[in-house]
Amino acid sequence: MGAATAYFLARRGVEVTVVERSGVACAASGKSGGFLALDWCDDSPLGPLARASFALHAELAKSIAIDYGYRRVDTFMLAARERGPVRGEHRVAPPHWLDGAGVVTAALGSTETTAQIHPASFTAALIEAAPARVHLGVVQEIVQRDGAAVGVRVDGATLAADAVVLALGPWTSHVAGRLLLRIRGLKGYSVTLGAAGVPPHALFVDYRTADGRTLEPEIFPRPDGSVYVCGMADPQPLPDSPEGVVVDDAACAVLAAAPITRRQACYRPVTDDGLPLIGRVPGVAGAYVATGHGPWGMLNAPGTGFALAELIVAGAATTIDLRAFDPRRS
Ligand SMILES: Cc1cc2nc3c(=O)[nH]c(=O)nc-3n(C[C@H](O)[C@H](O)[C@H](O)COP(=O)(O)OP(=O)(O)OC[C@H]3O[C@@H](n4cnc5c(N)ncnc54)[C@H](O)[C@@H]3O)c2cc1C
Repeated sequence: MGAATAYFLARRGVEVTVVERSGVACAASGKSGGFLALDWCDDSPLGPLARASFALHAELAKSIAIDYGYRRVDTFMLAARERGPVRGEHRVAPPHWLDGAGVVTAALGSTETTAQIHPASFTAALIEAAPARVHLGVVQEIVQRDGAAVGVRVDGATLAADAVVLALGPWTSHVAGRLLLRIRGLKGYSVTLGAAGVPPHALFVDYRTADGRTLEPEIFPRPDGSVYVCGMADPQPLPDSPEGVVVDDAACAVLAAAPITRRQACYRPVTDDGLPLIGRVPGVAGAYVATGHGPWGMLNAPGTGFALAELIVAGAATTIDLRAFDPRRS
């Protein structure tokens, strides 16, 4: 969210500094699936933001001269069992490379409606293309004068700014305190496998283990020759910083039997009502927030960044309606 907001602010001629405690894309925005869907949020207030973001992703991939793995994909639902066959036949033509006893039960999306990015490369590309200055340090609080934000306290020193955007993902509450609804972190594991040349086919899998457990792994082959697999959730509490995120090898082993090239864990920023917070921080003029995007932060980053930049520079977000995401809601 910070990178996307920085990008669209810079497009409007604003000089931007991104303050980052560990490293660009060190948390969920570097470790997520990077799967994008045009219409999968249509039954929620996120629908218009998701549609606008899907379109902006296509434009960004053309206008940013950095390859971050954007491509359209076909997306399938697959039923598979660790032991024994799945009943029934394929309901749609399966990807030709799929072997084993799995059954394709639905086409969930086509190259018109689903796409992917490499999340870490995308986040870094936004900052480079903006361009935005990256200041490494830990944000402690918003510095205020007469009820207005005049900067942030970073490692004990004040970094002055005309406007402040809080986009600390699941850690946003550490700085916002009671100014905003509580943001929590929801942990998820992922692994990547080395497997070059897998076609652009995303799979959402309904998988039963031999001992009867249901898993729902998501499998995204990437153009860089890796295959990303995620799907294990974990109720572990949010650590104080991204460096404290523990990767459990046993949880990762559940995701794949093939040789794993990378094991990862990260926390989705979530709100109690499932909707992000995008807009003005109540009670502090010149302070804004963009967080709480849950499972759809990569998809909705461009729309969020675009709308927030419009709100900050023009005084109102008129292109994308942000009312459902108003941080003042209780
Ligand atoms: C396993 C998994 C798979 C996912 N798959 C998808 C997907 O396929 N498609 C999709 O759209 N979304 C997906 N998501 C969701 C998406 O990754 C998140 O919604 C999104 O990355 C959140 O971005 P953010 O910028 O709000 O937070 P983050 O990416 O967490 O960024 C917050 C940043 O703030 C920094 N920070 C924290 N505290 C401080 C501080 N005090 N001072 C300075 N910096 C600080 C952190 O270091 C971090 O870099 C997935 C999430 C997970 C966990």
